[in-house]
Amino acid sequence: MGKKEIIHIHIGQAGVQIANACWELYCLEHGIRTDGILAFANDDENYQAFFSHTGAGKVVPRVVMIDLEPTPIDEIRTGAYRELFHPNSLLTGKEDAASNFARGYFGVGREMIDLALNRVRIAAEDCNALQGFVIFRSFGGGTGSGFTALLLDSLSRDYGKLSKVEFAIYPSPKISPIIVEPYNAVLTSHSTMNTEDVCFIFDNEALYDILARLLDTPRPTYTNLNRLIAQVVSCMTASMRFEGSLNVELVEFRTNLVPYPRIHFPLVTFAPFVPATKAMHESNTTQQLMMQCFEPSNQMVKCDPRHGSYMSCCLLFRGDVNPNDINSSINQIKSMRAIKFVSWSPTGFKIGINYQPPMTVPGGDLAALMRAVVMVSNSSSIRVAWERLCKKFSLMYAKRAFVHHYVGEGLEEGEFKNALMNIKALAKDYKEMED
Ligand code: GDP
Repeated sequence: MGKKEIIHIHIGQAGVQIANACWELYCLEHGIRTDGILAFANDDENYQAFFSHTGAGKVVPRVVMIDLEPTPIDEIRTGAYRELFHPNSLLTGKEDAASNFARGYFGVGREMIDLALNRVRIAAEDCNALQGFVIFRSFGGGTGSGFTALLLDSLSRDYGKLSKVEFAIYPSPKISPIIVEPYNAVLTSHSTMNTEDVCFIFDNEALYDILARLLDTPRPTYTNLNRLIAQVVSCMTASMRFEGSLNVELVEFRTNLVPYPRIHFPLVTFAPFVPATKAMHESNTTQQLMMQCFEPSNQMVKCDPRHGSYMSCCLLFRGDVNPNDINSSINQIKSMRAIKFVSWSPTGFKIGINYQPPMTVPGGDLAALMRAVVMVSNSSSIRVAWERLCKKFSLMYAKRAFVHHYVGEGLEEGEFKNALMNIKALAKDYKEMED
């Protein structure tokens, strides 16, 4: 039997632009041309977890893309992959959410929700055994924050038992293109606290630094950032798309990484970062890869894990790795004083291996690799990201700055206070996880 299917939902500008990078890489890995035709006969049919077959000998991504304004999706409609996606899976409105959570949740979002749910239902009916949804969006944009919260309300009602896993762009510590990003991020985290299972957060500043410092790309664009995210996502989902020995299903992220429902924002780390220019000079052993996973420079969010404790770690390998090397490295890591684990989670490590080597897009920043690993860990140190966000929110809210825009779109002012209290409590919950 093939693998259980997963539907990708890409929302707002960031979500849709990340779709470009993710599907570019998935197609490359499975030998699928830009028009959806398989370039070679594929023995391993597990790619059907992510792609469905049409009668015309084509494969089509199991995807729904939604944006309240047309531009990013229009670029897909006219771009290199225009024949890959089913036109009905691309949904656009005419008016954007003006970087306002309330417009995405109450205003223009309400006009789009039924249509979006209908497209999700059609995609779900095309599956034999749907395991869940993977959602891509930003926390800071109006569509990403508001519409996603609205959609998750319905998904949790209609598909309660299925996994809902998110990859989200989190506001960066210093740079931000949107002034009200902290409002949107806090309001959306509050709204989706009980409707999403796991949320992997990425901050653009951490990605900029990885590209600039480790991948010799001093002035990265969104395309560079998104290709980096795609590489991580691809590594995390490889075993859902390829035959392998130690496979990980979507639901296992929740089972292994979420000790309490609210504590569902794992820290993501990737290794190795080898720039394309240095491809011939680097060969990282499995042990070296594992050590790099504990380096703050390899993390997708800026925080220092030495100032917190690990509750659980999930190491997802791909390529040429030896399980014995992994076990001996785990023992070594457990004995290191700088890496602290909570005492109440004694086993701590979950391993996934997929022997399919990683692939990189030609002309990209990352070298072709023999092996790679993504570590997703529940580390209490991630609370600093929430504390940072609450602080910025409080500064603006103390002056009630910009609040009228939200109230004008139907958000009750009391919700600002509730949301802030909830996220402050989340930071505290993380702190309490430590011994
Ligand atoms: P929305 O369309 O209303 O959801 O707004 P955006 O998705 O543009 O949200 C703004 C946030 O997303 C800001 O933090 C931007 O830096 C970030 N962002 C926008 N586009 C991209 C992208 O293509 N890639 C990444 N990594 N971040 C993006």
